Amino acid sequence: MNHDDGNKSGYHPETRMIHGEFRSLHWNYGTHIIPPISASCAYRLESASRGAEGFQAFAHPELERGGVDPIYIYDRLDEPSRGMLEKNLATAESSECAVTFATGMAAIRASMGVLLKAGDAVVAHHTMYGCTYSLLSTWFPRFGIRVVFADLTKTEAIGELLSSDVKAVYFETPSNPILELIDIAAVRAAVDEANDGREEGDAIHIIVDNTFATPFCQRPLESGAHIVCHSLTKNIGGFGTDMGGVVAAPRSLEPLLLLFRKDLGAPLAPRCAWPHLVYGLPTLALRSRQQIALAGEVAAYLEEHDLVERVLYPGLKSHPQHELALRQMRDADGAFAPGIMLSFVLKGADEVRQERGRKMMDHLAANALSVTLAVSLGQIRTLIEHPSSMTHAPLSLEAQKKAGIDPGLIRISAGIERAGDVIRDLEEALSIASA
Ligand SMILES: *Cc1c(COP(=O)(O)O)cnc(C)c1O
Repeated sequence: MNHDDGNKSGYHPETRMIHGEFRSLHWNYGTHIIPPISASCAYRLESASRGAEGFQAFAHPELERGGVDPIYIYDRLDEPSRGMLEKNLATAESSECAVTFATGMAAIRASMGVLLKAGDAVVAHHTMYGCTYSLLSTWFPRFGIRVVFADLTKTEAIGELLSSDVKAVYFETPSNPILELIDIAAVRAAVDEANDGREEGDAIHIIVDNTFATPFCQRPLESGAHIVCHSLTKNIGGFGTDMGGVVAAPRSLEPLLLLFRKDLGAPLAPRCAWPHLVYGLPTLALRSRQQIALAGEVAAYLEEHDLVERVLYPGLKSHPQHELALRQMRDADGAFAPGIMLSFVLKGADEVRQERGRKMMDHLAANALSVTLAVSLGQIRTLIEHPSSMTHAPLSLEAQKKAGIDPGLIRISAGIERAGDVIRDLEEALSIASA
């Protein structure tokens, strides 16, 4: 058979409509400005031995992925669109490797899954994204993994928590939804002390969920974290069209992460990798600058409002950890980058401020153009939500407060709108809420 015959004229036209040309320059990545979305569950192999070579090379600890021409076999193992995104994400987080997953939760699960086995323990900050809390509190004990929830803002107390079964320390900074910061370098100092004398395979790893800050605002690996996780669904994706997650890690963990994904599933679909690669990551800096400016203006406006008890935003001098924010949250040029997320608490007795929050949300949902009532975050649209009357509504006010959810807490994810418009919409909703 002549493999160079691009026309394959001997085949039925219908067969040719399925297969196109045998070799097509349309799939030559070298000449595309926009990489094509590769969509192929399985890959054509040149020979049986080439297939064997591919299997042997996959997740091989001594082969540097990316350093060799990849042999693609099957989507769940590796494929080109996702591989290009992973390379770019590793660059963004200045990590040695990056492995993507179908969602942020799948990435978080993998980051701990490659470190922890039955009998091990993880220390985690006590406030975090709801599903991560549920993963740790519901599922990990079933897998025989002990979970210690603690206040990691109190860095001086971390050392005592690091008993010999602890293999990972997990936290978000800033944390969802109350924007607490954790001093990554201080956690690293405590972990280094605990790791002293441990075998390398036994060492404690620090895992940071960097979803809120994104690599634009902070690169946790540079501050001392070992592993970074993201929900790509949020501000790296940026447009709210596709889910995804990533683990950025040292090269030594790459084989395990790839094997974990191969065997536990949840790879990022190439057609979901593509928008992150083509639209999301390339516009992150541009969007972030506009969003941070908006977050700052909205935070300053809310701080002056009569109906607002307090505003939680690392960029405000009133944030209890503003000094830490100044040290830890910096863009690549070294400029202060306090993020796009802010929360605020309404005034009034428990029931009163919960009702005010609910009224505010209903008014915005029905009337506002520039503020959208929705969960999720990190989109070009400004999103707002009120956990007490939404995600945590089934809990009593007492139970909500115990879970760290104030009845009057409202979370905002700044978009790229004009600040004047967002403030106008908030102003109107606040006046309705107090009526
Ligand atoms: C959304 C989110 C996640 C989970 O990501 P998914 O892509 O929804 O699975 C994890 N951590 C944080 C901080 C998040 O905001």
